[in-house]
Amino acid sequence: MDIFNVQCPACGREYYADMLLYSLRVELHCPYCGVFFCREDSPRVVTGGAGASAVARVAGDLGPQTIYRPPDQED
Ligand SMILES: [Zn+2]
Repeated sequence: MDIFNVQCPACGREYYADMLLYSLRVELHCPYCGVFFCREDSPRVVTGGAGASAVARVAGDLGPQTIYRPPDQED
């Protein structure tokens, strides 16, 4: 599936959601603090691009405090 990464405007943590939610322009729900917000209110939204599907495997590790890269990701 296609995903996009979004940063919560309330708590600042990043998570990902299905692009379907992006295309529907519905309110997004932060899994960390539970706030609902429009993506226009997010300080950072990253759609598609390099590694969108790859990072899905390490979703939740995208925060600056928990960045982790699998050692053999580059080919
Ligand atoms: Zn939040």
